Amino acid sequence: MAAQVFAYIVHKNGVADDTALELVSAARNIFPDTSPTAIVTGSGTDLDGVCNDLAASFGEVWKFDHEALAYPNAEAIRKLLMAVLPADAVVLFPHDTFGMDLAPGLSIKLNSVFVSDAAGFEGLDGNNLKVIRQEYSGQVSTHLMADISAGAVINVRPGIFQPDESRSAGGQVVDKSSKIGDLSVGRRFLEVVEAEAGDVDITKEDILVSVGRGIEDQDNIEIAEELAEAVGGVVSCSRPIVDAKWLEKPRQVGTSGQTVKPKVYMALGISGSFQHMGGIKGNPYIIAVNKNLKAPIFQIADVGVVEDLLDFVPVLTEKIQEGK
Ligand SMILES: Cc1cc2nc3c(=O)[nH]c(=O)nc-3n(C[C@H](O)[C@H](O)[C@H](O)COP(=O)(O)OP(=O)(O)OC[C@H]3O[C@@H](n4cnc5c(N)ncnc54)[C@H](O)[C@@H]3O)c2cc1C
Repeated sequence: MAAQVFAYIVHKNGVADDTALELVSAARNIFPDTSPTAIVTGSGTDLDGVCNDLAASFGEVWKFDHEALAYPNAEAIRKLLMAVLPADAVVLFPHDTFGMDLAPGLSIKLNSVFVSDAAGFEGLDGNNLKVIRQEYSGQVSTHLMADISAGAVINVRPGIFQPDESRSAGGQVVDKSSKIGDLSVGRRFLEVVEAEAGDVDITKEDILVSVGRGIEDQDNIEIAEELAEAVGGVVSCSRPIVDAKWLEKPRQVGTSGQTVKPKVYMALGISGSFQHMGGIKGNPYIIAVNKNLKAPIFQIADVGVVEDLLDFVPVLTEKIQEGK
């Protein structure tokens, strides 16, 4: 089958999110010969820069410029997409908080199949798309078939597909703003609240020593701080550490925390949930220390150490200090 494939583009301050080019790869995994169409919604001059930049990577870039689209209001954007998408469209969204808000309702309105949190595709068998998902923090893979003959709405897990950097599509920007109909909705956007700034800015650091629940006790964070000092990095963490109030929220890496782009990422006692890994961009060198050989983090780590971190990390720090 040959359906038109669309990718919804998340963008901020005139820059497309990393997931934009990941969705190009995801679309090509489904239909290898396709150049997907980007859907960019927003308001004002920022939008042109995003659209022009994306044109090289997409067959077409559909621009929708309207003041009601200035904020990522899932209800308004769902209404827009219902009106402009063709009947058998296959639409990809990043599986982030916004995608989770928008996509399921859209599939109901379009009467098409919904696939949540797709972590891979194994091609088409007739009209059936073979999809891989991961359950139980990535310890189990499930394979499912989705009948996409009437179109599909698919949420793709961020960070799974390599961004397509080839810029080989040579597409063009098509201003579809005149197609925007009534966007009045019940939900009103009040304001954007930026995350609080911490004492360190982990988004700017080249080396992060990140601690997860495996650190076991607040007092043990000192071990990570010593390692961070030895390697010239700073300490970041997974969400349970923030929930336990052992570290401040600005140190949290992940989809509901900070997006970081270090060169080296050391994951100490972190299982590797997609919400955590979704906050790590730029393909850093990942060193994981975990006492469970089956922890999902080892599937993506460049170096994996199967050890109790409480024993291993102090020795590593000592050796690094000796080496200096
Ligand atoms: C909407 C939503 C948003 C979320 N956002 C985020 C987010 O932004 N960031 C985030 O991190 N999480 C987020 N989460 C939570 C996420 O799903 C995971 O629960 C979390 O990432 C797990 O953190 P963890 O790896 O530290 O803990 P766990 O998954 O419990 O893993 C602990 C790991 O430590 C290992 N371990 C235990 N003891 C030791 C030891 N002594 N030595 C070595 N290894 C040891 C274990 O084998 C295990 O692999 C979110 C969840 C939801 C639902």
